Amino acid sequence: MISVYTPDAFRASFLSKQKIREDNQSVLKDVQAILTNVQQNGDEAIEAYAQKFDGGVPSNWLVTKDEKEKAWGEVAEETIVALKRAAENIRSFHQKQLPTSRFMKTEADITSGQLYRAIENVGIYVPGGTASYPSSVLMNAIPAIIAGVERVVMVSPARNGESISPLLLVAAEIAGVQEIYKIGGAHAIAALAYGTESIPSVDKIVGPGNAYVATAKSLVFGDVGIDMIAGPSEVAIIADETANPIFIAADLLAQAEHDPFARSFLFSTSERVLEEAKAEVEKQCAILPRKEIAEQALQNRSALVKVTDTDEAFELANQLAPEHLEIQLDQPMNYLGKVRNAGSVFLGNYSPEPLGDYYAGPNHILPTSGTAKFSSGLSVDDFLKKTTFLYYSEKALLDAAPDIMNLAKVEQLEGHARAIQVRVEERKGGISDE
Ligand code: NAD
Repeated sequence: MISVYTPDAFRASFLSKQKIREDNQSVLKDVQAILTNVQQNGDEAIEAYAQKFDGGVPSNWLVTKDEKEKAWGEVAEETIVALKRAAENIRSFHQKQLPTSRFMKTEADITSGQLYRAIENVGIYVPGGTASYPSSVLMNAIPAIIAGVERVVMVSPARNGESISPLLLVAAEIAGVQEIYKIGGAHAIAALAYGTESIPSVDKIVGPGNAYVATAKSLVFGDVGIDMIAGPSEVAIIADETANPIFIAADLLAQAEHDPFARSFLFSTSERVLEEAKAEVEKQCAILPRKEIAEQALQNRSALVKVTDTDEAFELANQLAPEHLEIQLDQPMNYLGKVRNAGSVFLGNYSPEPLGDYYAGPNHILPTSGTAKFSSGLSVDDFLKKTTFLYYSEKALLDAAPDIMNLAKVEQLEGHARAIQVRVEERKGGISDE
């Protein structure tokens, strides 16, 4: 079960990037072969992989109108209501992220600015191997639709080779996604990136998935855009004497049940909270249906750390750069300024991570494995491109001409200098009437 570490032992065991990379190496070769095969053989290749990994080849890759309608009858009414409320919260949060195109510098004869344009074709991967995640449909699709993406394509593996979970189909319709294919794994990423006879390609692929999916996304990057390379999920909790060990244990387990590679950490200034949380984890784990998975994650990849003060807790958490950071401290809002690296922050004893996973509005597709040091969770921004523009009048260009020609010449790009020079000479010849 979960062990107690000193801050130094924690640093030595958990703050090395090398360990995270090793896990990905084992699937790299398989995924490379899958990508090449799909690129060369299209539908024939995806049929073979569907047969091998997903229990059969669906009679139609594209989900039909009938299949979508049938799905609504198979999902409980209270779940439909909860999904609609969650969608509304997510929509409202992401709507506020929309930037506007703007003129950034306007003088009498100089104008520059930036246009925002949505990516035209986006593929969203929704995991479907070991469980169904309707929340991932909402979190992927809603920001894309708000950004103005014209064609949002969803892919998810078929269960027993034939159908996608009705939960995913209902969530897709609530989010506003029309085009859905029954395909998953690395071959789905290949199909989205390169296209097959049945599945047209897209410009960018987003969404979480297992190691095969994540590795495939990393390999197609460059041919298409991707959001991020998602690793196993993780949570870090910073807690003091005022925190509730029962809540903490439940939150550590909520993360650990994801998969055997998930990671849960507690940094506490209180010896009592640490000890009680440890005992609670063992007690609560015993009743979880996914306890075998949680036990593996807690045994090998998680830690309880006794810190001397909250500054040390934030130093360790910032170095870890966790996907989720829970701050269960007295007056939690006072500590927001100490967060430097984290995907998403949950403040106080009553803002546990599942609130954000499913419902509140911020996105749950977040940077993992320390990548919060340089990247952010999914947002409307991921579906937009920025195009800058500029306008100079003849006079404005002639004023700037000596500087530009000088810079072109020091870079030994005579053609660049001449593009300015011809305009200066035309002016000297008196052709312009300005
Ligand atoms: P998945 O859809 O990502 O992967 C299943 C597919 O993997 C299968 O359909 C199959 O095609 C392929 N596959 C399986 N074994 C293979 C093999 N040996 N070789 C090649 N391909 C193989 O579903 P999953 O496996 O359940 O994984 C989902 C992951 O997504 C989990 O790790 C989960 O924690 C994560 N997740 C993350 C978030 C998030 O926001 N970060 C949300 C939901 C799920």
